[in-house]
Amino acid sequence: MSDSTRNELGMDRKITRRDFMDGVALGVGAVAAGSLLGAAGSAPAQAAPAQPGAVSRRGGVYPPGRDGMRGQNQLDNFGHQLRAGTFWDNAGEPQATGETYDLVVVGGGISGLAAARIFQQQAGRKARILVLEALDDVGGHARRNDFSTTHRQLIGYGGSQSLDAPSSFAPVAKKLLDDVGIEPERFEKYFDKDFEDRHHLGSGVFLDKESWGADFLGRWHGTPDYRKVLAGSPVKAATRAKIEEIYNGKVDYLAGLTRAQKKNKLDRITYLEFLRDHAGADADALKYLQTVSNGNWGYGIDAIGGLDAWVEPFPGFRGTFQPYWDDKPDPRMAPTAHKLWYAEDEYIYHFPEGNAGVVYSLVRKLLPEALPGKGMQTITTNRIRYGRLDQSGNRVRIRLNAPAVRIKHVGDPGTATKVDVTYLEKGKLRVVRAANVVMACQNSLIPYLTDELGDAQREALFDSRRLALCYTTVEVRNWKAFKKAELAHVRYPTAYWQSIGLDFPVSMGRYQFPDKPKDRALLHVTSSFCKPGSGEHPQDQAAYGRRQLAGTTFDEMEFRLRDQLARTLGRFGFDPADDILSITVNRWAHGYAYEYARPWDKFWPAGPLPSHVARQRWGRVAIANTDSAPRAYVDAAIGMAARAVAELTGARLPKVANGVDGIDPRKLGSGGR
Ligand SMILES: Cc1cc2nc3c(=O)[nH]c(=O)nc-3n(C[C@H](O)[C@H](O)[C@H](O)COP(=O)(O)OP(=O)(O)OC[C@H]3O[C@@H](n4cnc5c(N)ncnc54)[C@H](O)[C@@H]3O)c2cc1C
Repeated sequence: MSDSTRNELGMDRKITRRDFMDGVALGVGAVAAGSLLGAAGSAPAQAAPAQPGAVSRRGGVYPPGRDGMRGQNQLDNFGHQLRAGTFWDNAGEPQATGETYDLVVVGGGISGLAAARIFQQQAGRKARILVLEALDDVGGHARRNDFSTTHRQLIGYGGSQSLDAPSSFAPVAKKLLDDVGIEPERFEKYFDKDFEDRHHLGSGVFLDKESWGADFLGRWHGTPDYRKVLAGSPVKAATRAKIEEIYNGKVDYLAGLTRAQKKNKLDRITYLEFLRDHAGADADALKYLQTVSNGNWGYGIDAIGGLDAWVEPFPGFRGTFQPYWDDKPDPRMAPTAHKLWYAEDEYIYHFPEGNAGVVYSLVRKLLPEALPGKGMQTITTNRIRYGRLDQSGNRVRIRLNAPAVRIKHVGDPGTATKVDVTYLEKGKLRVVRAANVVMACQNSLIPYLTDELGDAQREALFDSRRLALCYTTVEVRNWKAFKKAELAHVRYPTAYWQSIGLDFPVSMGRYQFPDKPKDRALLHVTSSFCKPGSGEHPQDQAAYGRRQLAGTTFDEMEFRLRDQLARTLGRFGFDPADDILSITVNRWAHGYAYEYARPWDKFWPAGPLPSHVARQRWGRVAIANTDSAPRAYVDAAIGMAARAVAELTGARLPKVANGVDGIDPRKLGSGGR
């Protein structure tokens, strides 16, 4: 590729570039040593080449606004070193800090902070609680991306996006949101539902010449007729008609089977098999549909099960099934499908900073002095005072840059009343003592932190391999090209980035989203990394995707992003060289918790479930986090926190989810079987 092509796209421009791997700033231009949370097998991240603009825009400690040369420190390495068994070789002698706590939480994501709050509710305000977080910011996947311009502050999200169907949350999650001041109904006002109609914005699909022979952009408003949308595209007329039939036709592709037989059939096959073997989709139709499931599920149609595809509903089921709302949920559906079954909500429950809004609300509740202000409407605009998170006089302390490296009971775990938690602080090992510990980090790291577990539990914890995703936030000079193209978002079935769109139109309190096309704005760009079309188990695909994600340079990601934007919107006036002002890449090599799904996991739902073995309490240590549900949702993070705390305090075990209670799926009805 010539320099002039790169320069035309703006690769030589001085803009702000930020690159996070599992929340760790890799440092664009730094030699990044590897992912902090790489214990489950990711390859070390490859160094991104030097880029101009990799300088901090802010003074002081404000992690959400940081950029530049970071990530090359001991934190990056400890996961790999623990896994390789080399960590303790040069670790030095741990020093006791003399601190004792009623509860130490390992991991400051939503689950860890929720555990801290629920424990505080049960043990009382006087309870002494320490949250240890490995990274320099709170929130884990719920990651805020801040952009400041001379004109206005723009706030986006780099991970956990929205409160997905809060009406389906179990009481324990609803109660916690209420406790921290989040009133979901307020999003009815905050989310501008008329935005797309007011600006006459619709949807698009872009076919790239590398995969289809020629570039093509199809656009529509409302329900598309794919014969028209794809007219003039490289897709053959017969395939276009088949795609239209699959999306909008009323053909029963499983004709002759009873409803129960249809479910049994779908339970045994993937969605791709349904489309290919029953709906008659040819190779191009399958290629067109391959990534429709990636956003929600983290993997494609070759891995998502037929039953789950039906409940979504993905295209192809209009004539095959009658509507399902008078039916019972089938227990074989994956947890996401159960959630969809019960969901009554629009997709509007979104803070500008995504679910970092939940994190900030929890921080305010636990440590009011660290996040001043009152009411949900000030969560987005008020900043955490990072210097107040870990003050010696406080009953609750949140210690950042402090990865736990060893959890050990003082004596026999069966009878001990204390646990020593060793963590790293500025390269030195420190020890605090706790009466209770909640592990709210990812499951697959836990066996490296303790030698107190049996083989079965260790194996089950390792089994929780997460899916790989990347969310990129792009600050653009204006969104006139989107307006001119009449597009709010574009799907890319076969390109590197699978979706590009305008950020959600949410205004809260003093925060106003950019409503005018001439305004600076944020784009939300996503991809999930797997092995499209391989037909392998989703977790094996994710392992492949994780290596791919970790091995791709920022430079390459940026080039592909600029190239896709230029080819999609260039003719509507978008100039990536001039119009892109900053790029923040948030790579989640260990992203969504993998939830059990058919046809892969034969043990689902009857059990025994590996997650039940994995999350067992041992001694004074209990396990929270979404891996132990396993479901990649805020309500699961909260539910698992509540369960873990109850295991330690002896409180009644809460019901943690509707439909799939995460405790005993055998109690469910028999559905359509
Ligand atoms: C890209 C993306 C989009 C998502 N979108 C949504 C969405 O729209 N809605 C939704 O409900 N859910 C979404 N999720 C799911 C998300 O995982 C949950 O919402 C939730 O944020 C998970 O919280 P958690 O606390 O269980 O895990 P995490 O967020 O992974 O938090 C674990 C924390 O533990 C820390 N840690 C790890 N090891 C150590 C150690 N040794 N010592 C100390 N700390 C440690 C980590 O740094 C991290 O901060 C999304 C996830 C991703 C990746």
